[in-house]
Amino acid sequence: MNEHSVSNPYCSRTDTTKLDLPDSVWKKVLSPEVYEVARKAGTERAFTGKLWDFEGIGTYYCAACGNALFRSDAKFASTCGWPSFFETVRPASVEYRADMAFGMSRTEVLCGRCGAHLGHVFDDGSPPTGKRFCMNSIVLDFEPDTAAGQ
Ligand code: FE
Repeated sequence: MNEHSVSNPYCSRTDTTKLDLPDSVWKKVLSPEVYEVARKAGTERAFTGKLWDFEGIGTYYCAACGNALFRSDAKFASTCGWPSFFETVRPASVEYRADMAFGMSRTEVLCGRCGAHLGHVFDDGSPPTGKRFCMNSIVLDFEPDTAAGQ
């Protein structure tokens, strides 16, 4: 848990049951910064997030609901200024939606459990998948591996 999820009763690292909560609930349980990206599809400015050049060993979870999204070994150094991954933990970790906003044709990436906006996925990524999951740091909670586990 981090500072963004301590008062969020819907956050769970183990429960993968889908959440379908109204916007008013999210507004209450998320910090304003997480809410702006997760529920309003905001984008943090490049090179400003906490994780774009972070290299810790562990797991990245959805900051809105705790759903496991990425492992650190799927993260790669990207020059785009946002944390970038070539694959998700599970296929169902995320969902996809066509995004035609701003005159671009992009694929939006949403949390597979709570529907939070996470970022976009592009085809100019890293082997072995060639994908670049371009994520917003603020909607990711990083949990380092413990010495004993994983
Ligand atoms: Fe989520």
